[in-house]
Amino acid sequence: MIPYKHEPFTDFSVDQNRKDYLEGLKTVEAYLGQDYPLIIGGERITTEDKIISFNPSNKEELIGRVSKSNKELAEKAMQAADEAFKTWKKVKPEIRADVLMRAAAIVRRRKHEFSALLTKEAGKPWNEADADTAEAIDFMEYYARQMLRLKDGMHVESRPGEDNRYDYIPLGVGVVISPWNFAFAIMAGTAVAAMVAGNTVLLKPASTTPVVAYKFIEVLEEAGMPAGVVNFIPGPGSEVGDYLVDHPNTRFISFTGSKEVGLRIAERSAKVNEGQIWMKRLIAEMGGKNTMVVDKEADLELAAQSIVKSAFGFSGQKCSAGSRAVIVEDVYDTVLERVIELTKELTIGDPTDQSNYMGPVIDGNSYDKIMSYIEIGKQEGRLVAGGDGDNSKGFFVNPTVFADLDPQARIMQEEIFGPVVGLTKAKDFDHAIEIANNTEYGLTGAVITNNRANLEKAREDFHVGNLYFNRGCTGAIVGYQSFGGFNMSGTDSKAGGPDYIGLHMQAKTTSEMY
Ligand code: NAP
Repeated sequence: MIPYKHEPFTDFSVDQNRKDYLEGLKTVEAYLGQDYPLIIGGERITTEDKIISFNPSNKEELIGRVSKSNKELAEKAMQAADEAFKTWKKVKPEIRADVLMRAAAIVRRRKHEFSALLTKEAGKPWNEADADTAEAIDFMEYYARQMLRLKDGMHVESRPGEDNRYDYIPLGVGVVISPWNFAFAIMAGTAVAAMVAGNTVLLKPASTTPVVAYKFIEVLEEAGMPAGVVNFIPGPGSEVGDYLVDHPNTRFISFTGSKEVGLRIAERSAKVNEGQIWMKRLIAEMGGKNTMVVDKEADLELAAQSIVKSAFGFSGQKCSAGSRAVIVEDVYDTVLERVIELTKELTIGDPTDQSNYMGPVIDGNSYDKIMSYIEIGKQEGRLVAGGDGDNSKGFFVNPTVFADLDPQARIMQEEIFGPVVGLTKAKDFDHAIEIANNTEYGLTGAVITNNRANLEKAREDFHVGNLYFNRGCTGAIVGYQSFGGFNMSGTDSKAGGPDYIGLHMQAKTTSEMY
């Protein structure tokens, strides 16, 4: 097997690549508005009740109508996953890894179709959609190889006449609950990590982006995944999610989403229900309030560019988004001025048009939430760019910058999950790090400085799971910058990292006397 290398991003300045993407868009447009069933134990099940997936840049455009799971169907899926686990756990790790390798190859062949679907269903501009698809491919390639690394267990010592072994075995049925913001990469990555480790999966994707998840299950089937190994059960988190989290047969939960839902799952999954014979394991990756720190001895153009890119890429809807900047006072005005200029240059509109830097936010709820934060920001700070939106056709919020905020302001403390960035002044670098650490989260952060001692100080004291120097705080690559956060950002289970697969397994010691 060739060594892992991350999937390169597509260069859309190349004519042929643009044509290929537009071809992908045509393929997607040809299947818009179709109905999709649930997939339980390989069986297609259609329900009356549907999840309606629409295009966030054009509310009139239907992406698909997806059958909606309920408690009864979730129970059926649990039975199917339980049954499939009996055989899947005995399938050799090499064969499980082969399913992922082939699935990665299939997605690579249909790369632009998947990206175009993300543009339509999640509102991702071309480059953001391309990165999401590339990351999904990376997760499959990387986790397949990580499984092969673990298949013979770890070395432990043996004494003369004795053979000790330390092997990893699967856990059981895992409930995978994924968000809409990396509707492909996180959904696929969390599902395949669980599956390649020998577990069976109940996949509940976000209700705003179920079609891309359905398309992915088709890929897994084409790649040779047996029936019942990953079951597709979209449905309301509050009904299906709670039911599966509480289920006594659920062995582990892999959740990515908001702090509120993550904490609810943590609490519920800790309770032992009737018939349950284990403590459920929880992998939870949650929100962030990520900070860009700018020192006085720094490349100020790089600082402004990084602040704007980290804040407004995919309309600020990345868990890693840089939603606040702390700038040492000596250079505050210069950086602020440049941030305003760069923000005003950004284009916003339908993301199928390649010239738009930013597309819509995901839905009406999100639009309302962001607009209400913008009102709060107007009270708390100085609005210097954006501050408005348009939800007549789709859900568009202009990139918004607030200056001169108090570090304790709500705009500086709460996750907004939209194109809003707050700036504040620090007395010096130490003060900047102190402010950067003053949230309950600890996901990503970045420091722009040419001062080596300050970089080292940040390395030790800036308490985030993913810390970046002289670059923005988004864009982690599988296998390179393993991703996960501290504190209320989750369990720091590093997605795309060398020990991630191990979280989905348990170690068994055997000892034989010769
Ligand atoms: P969300 O509202 O928490 O939803 C995430 C998933 O949880 C969805 O599938 C949702 O289903 C489901 N859910 C809702 N209520 C549930 C319940 N009671 N029990 C079980 N599942 C339930 O988050 P989101 O809006 O999709 O995603 C944005 C959030 O995710 C942000 O906070 C972001 O920072 C975070 N995020 C973190 C990471 C990371 O790696 N740390 C990565 C990406 C995103 P429905 O769609 O049906 O409600």
